[in-house]
Amino acid sequence: QKVEWAKLKDQKTLSADGQHFTLAANIGTPKDLTGVLENGAEGIGLYRTEFLYMDSQELPDEEAQFEAYKSVLEGVEPDENVTIRTMDIGGDKKLPYLPLPEEENPFLGYRAIRLSLGRSDIFRTQLRALIRASAFGNLWIMFPMVATLPEFRAARDIFNEEKAKLVAEGVAVSDNIKLGIMVEVPAAAVLADKFAQEVDFFSIGTNDLIGYTMAADRGNDKVSYLYQPYNPSILRLVDSVIKAAHKYGKVAAMCGEMAGDPIAVPILMGMGLDEFSMSATSVLPTRSLMRQLDASKLQTLAEKAIEADTSEDVVALVKANVPEIK
Ligand code: PEP
Ligand code: MG
Repeated sequence: QKVEWAKLKDQKTLSADGQHFTLAANIGTPKDLTGVLENGAEGIGLYRTEFLYMDSQELPDEEAQFEAYKSVLEGVEPDENVTIRTMDIGGDKKLPYLPLPEEENPFLGYRAIRLSLGRSDIFRTQLRALIRASAFGNLWIMFPMVATLPEFRAARDIFNEEKAKLVAEGVAVSDNIKLGIMVEVPAAAVLADKFAQEVDFFSIGTNDLIGYTMAADRGNDKVSYLYQPYNPSILRLVDSVIKAAHKYGKVAAMCGEMAGDPIAVPILMGMGLDEFSMSATSVLPTRSLMRQLDASKLQTLAEKAIEADTSEDVVALVKANVPEIK
């Protein structure tokens, strides 16, 4: 099987009926680019920048960040995109040099975009490094854990201010930087039709979206059975986010684990998800599966899946209709 997959490394990701889907990879550091290239991913759908902060003894300065972002942008093909997520610090990802108040519920607390807006000094440095790096490739910037429109607007305003300052300083920057949000807080998924009018793209973060929607921690043995990627409630949210994006001509991507899950992939293809981003090792198996499937026929499968009662029913439905899944 590995030999078969390897042959697909330089192939486009086309369904059996010729529909193209972008198959991108998730990375944590520029070093992960090797795996991305070896597995033939079409760009980077999620660069988790918090590792830059976590692997350092102090806040990484603008120059260090610029170098990291630039190397990733230069590491992919000129026609491929790189989606870089601003820091998702807080919650379980703590920084020894950035003391934050102890919280009773860190997963409902001061993290990600909330922290970035609260500490705009840190956020501005990151945005400056990103905007400077934009001259070296196709940069898409996304903000994590956005729950409300004002949060997105505030982040966009700061981005525009820093961009204008750099332009005034004579620094070369791209005029085509895309701004988007992670859809991982249920509130943002529910209001997707509003967000879609203001963002350039969505990237659905199913890892958190499932946890917050089901109110269940996958790491807790007693409740992990409730962490259900195929629960019709999750599928309905995902479907409505994709539809909202397309209604306004925006890109719908997914960068959570679900994007590389063989049971979910046929449903997501049927929903018309544009970009699937996953760990590099899942790229070739997913491309192989996608190439065997007829995307137009999967629309009916997706429609049935969102009408199902339970997660188990969805799995049975997919297995009965997609024999290509082994
Ligand atoms: C997600 O929540 O799905 C996601 C991709 O972000 P992370 O796994 O980094 O929280
Ligand atoms: Mg997340």
